[in-house]
Amino acid sequence: MKPLSYSQISLYQSCPLHYKLQYIDGLKPKDKWYFSFGRTMHMCAEYFFKVRVPPPPSLEELLRFYEQNWLSEGYESTEEEARYRAYGREILAEFWEIHQAGFKMPIAVERLFHIDIEGVKLTGYIDRVDKLDSGRLSIVDYKTDKELFTTEDLEKDLQLTLYQLAAEQTWQLPVERLTLYHFRSNTPRSCGPRNEAQLDETRRLVLEVAEGITQQKFPPIENQYCPCDFPEHCPYYRQQYMAPDLLQQGILDGVAVAEAVEHYVSLQGQIKELQSQFEEVKQRLIDFCQAEGLNRAYGREHAITYKLVEKTGFSEDEVRALLEPEGLWHLVLSLDQSRLRQLITDEAAAKDIRDKLAALKRVVASYPQLWVRRIMEEE
Ligand code: SF4
Repeated sequence: MKPLSYSQISLYQSCPLHYKLQYIDGLKPKDKWYFSFGRTMHMCAEYFFKVRVPPPPSLEELLRFYEQNWLSEGYESTEEEARYRAYGREILAEFWEIHQAGFKMPIAVERLFHIDIEGVKLTGYIDRVDKLDSGRLSIVDYKTDKELFTTEDLEKDLQLTLYQLAAEQTWQLPVERLTLYHFRSNTPRSCGPRNEAQLDETRRLVLEVAEGITQQKFPPIENQYCPCDFPEHCPYYRQQYMAPDLLQQGILDGVAVAEAVEHYVSLQGQIKELQSQFEEVKQRLIDFCQAEGLNRAYGREHAITYKLVEKTGFSEDEVRALLEPEGLWHLVLSLDQSRLRQLITDEAAAKDIRDKLAALKRVVASYPQLWVRRIMEEE
């Protein structure tokens, strides 16, 4: 298997089919302005920090590099591109101002790494690694996201965790600080290093992703970014790309699929409406029988009988007190799936037991189901 990168792991996590289409089948994603903008800003940070000896480049040099290396792909119009180009210049001027004062050479900039996690190869580039006065490492990852990160984003960021693993293996020094640098506001947000349990969890995640890929598990998983660039290959969206004559074929007494969908939704609505009317009439009849002390109410052609039905059952404590001393209690026990699911998320239970339980999860049954979604409103 080829080495995995953070982008691949994260894509597989969000949708394994998307991962397969892009990284195994080799389909090319469309150009996006935000990738171009992000890459341009990353190159500028690299240019600024990757000097052989201080001082860093002057502001004029940095802006010249920016103009020469500007990536135009993916912008929707020349106006949009010009707006971002000017915006990038402003960000860089501020970036230069902040970082030229007290400039210190990092020990690595855009550093390629290769590490091994129990036989799984991992590769990537770390934006910047500094050596702190304590002799430990500080890792910086630049982001051009719109929003500033929350503390939770910082603490859960998978990329930083992978970089910590990579840096500690590469330099054989402990990491002391992890930073996400918000380029748009020139704001660094830092936290301490991941602990051993968090690193173990990430190693496990890498192994799980690698195993999924090896076993060719590529189910589509809908997520906030759907549809991706390959909807014509995705079972959630492919129907929209089918040949019109195929779609015209009747699937239900000559009814084409589009009408069948609307018919289904309309029937579902009628069932709901009828169910609510049914419940109301039922309750009125019960109220009437109870108020009048009747067990039967008559219509013109039918009669309904009212009875208070009692449901019998056993008290768990009493049954247990009786059966346990006889060694029979286990015969009436069975696994409660919903309690088991609660236990897996219950922090009062030992974490390794919860993890082992979670790893035992299997598909035990599958059945077809339909969900309805209003596409007109979404559009
Ligand atoms: S459209 Fe969504 S579900 Fe389908 S392959 Fe793309 S990311 Fe996955």
